[in-house]
Amino acid sequence: MINLKHEKNPMPEQDPVVRAGNFEEVAQGYTAQMAINEAMRCLRCRKKPCTTGCPVMVRIPEFVAEVARGEFEAAFQIISETSALPRICGRVCPQENQCEKFCVQGIKGEPVAIGRLERFVSDWHAAHEEELKAAAKAKAEAAEAGDDEDLDLEDLAMEPQQVPSNGHKVAVVGAGPAGLTCAGDLAAKGYEVTVFESLHKPGGVLAYGIPEFRLPKDIVAAEVAKLEERGVKFVNNAIIGRAETVEELFEDGYEAVFVGTGAGLPAFMNIPGENLLGVCSANEYLTRINLMKGYLPEYDTPVQKAKRIAVVGGGNVAMDAARCAKRMGAEKVYIVYRRSMEEIPARAEEIHHAIEEGIDFQLLKNPVAVLGDENGYVTGLECVEMELGEPDASGRRRPVTKEGSNFVLDVDCVIMAIGTKLNKLILETTDNLKANDWGGIGTDEGAATSHEGVFAGGDAVTGAATVILAMGAGKTAAGSIEEYLKV
Ligand code: FAD
Ligand code: SF4
Repeated sequence: MINLKHEKNPMPEQDPVVRAGNFEEVAQGYTAQMAINEAMRCLRCRKKPCTTGCPVMVRIPEFVAEVARGEFEAAFQIISETSALPRICGRVCPQENQCEKFCVQGIKGEPVAIGRLERFVSDWHAAHEEELKAAAKAKAEAAEAGDDEDLDLEDLAMEPQQVPSNGHKVAVVGAGPAGLTCAGDLAAKGYEVTVFESLHKPGGVLAYGIPEFRLPKDIVAAEVAKLEERGVKFVNNAIIGRAETVEELFEDGYEAVFVGTGAGLPAFMNIPGENLLGVCSANEYLTRINLMKGYLPEYDTPVQKAKRIAVVGGGNVAMDAARCAKRMGAEKVYIVYRRSMEEIPARAEEIHHAIEEGIDFQLLKNPVAVLGDENGYVTGLECVEMELGEPDASGRRRPVTKEGSNFVLDVDCVIMAIGTKLNKLILETTDNLKANDWGGIGTDEGAATSHEGVFAGGDAVTGAATVILAMGAGKTAAGSIEEYLKV
């Protein structure tokens, strides 16, 4: 039966006042009944527009139909056909610009909450995994003994299995979503995969950037553990281009290399005062808090604990930094963004949560200087007001300064979240590896670079994008590497 309710079933969440003081997950997930009710809102459209809006083409109506029937494991198996990290995507994908944007229910009301359902299904699977494995094992043993002819091969797929080696060694550089997906797909085909990661933990932005209250780190660790069970080896604290070059990886016997090193080099505004004490990049701030657990009193990680903070930027990174700042005890946190709410690029849910948590949005404002005292510490952020002019090359209306509108925000810390660039280390240390137009690693559609045997994908190729696009690129590259090594 279809439920014609126009609104999504609301997501249970921690109270905004309570959660602004802790790092626990904000959204608490649907119950089974809520998920079934939500799934029943799906109209089973014949043309399946939602599926075309998903970068990895998850069979959405089919998995949603299984949820509506209460068949959660069947729903999980459908999602897993195309998405390697559904617990992560269900939490962080910008669904409003992807699958949900095309959902027919969205024309008259709110779209089906596809992301929330994906999260529910994959969390349900994780919570029941041990039970499912035990049942599958018992069934397999019974079948072997000839007692059970009803052996369902899907049951056996529960266990991440280490496929026998096909003798080919592949190196993956960077353990973000692109690298992890590429590694997982190749390991599933019997390739001997080693992932080299410059930080002390795998996960890329999932580990160092996105905060615990949006993406609990045990979820990322569980995905990495599954890859290890499939035979993927991780070498942490290994900066390729410094410790070893790409060329040296080939000398070590790797026959193909996938580069998924992201675009983590922070950009600054180049305004006066940016070198004052109390100015930092959002990436550094978030890394100290997330990866180095700067929010836990038992950790010695040095991290700014300012009282009045301005975060410059309007993307997910800016929202994450602002909401972390609040949780680190700041009394006043501003988001300073030069366009209006119409153009702000962060996920709608993050903006909504930030507003609920008391973040002060200074829209149509742009910093022109960081002000400091005689000891070099930040005392304020001088800004100007902006108005929107004609659309620029990106199609968004260009912000134009209102002359004489200068004012000062009284802050003791400024966090820059205005975008990131590629770290050029791999390009500079690998011969015959060509850059693309924006300075990232150049590839063809199949993720092959100009260097024989080297493939690349994710933010390192496209510039800062999304988790699901990085995963899609890792998948494409794994397919191309397989083709390449077959010849
Ligand atoms: P990354 O995740 O950046 O991983 C690259 C890895 O390579 C890193 O671990 C890095 O340490 C390692 N590395 C770099 N150089 C070397 C080297 N020379 N040798 C070895 N290892 C190296 N996207 C969404 O879809 N939804 C969100 O809500 C969202 N929020 C975000 C919040 C923040 C704070 C940030 C920073 C990004 C966010 N994004 C979000 C974007 C998304 O996380 C990225 O697009 C995605 O992680 C890119 O994946 P990747 O694998 O290409 O690179
Ligand atoms: Fe269901 Fe919406 Fe997809 Fe139609 S577009 S099949 S209503 S989820």
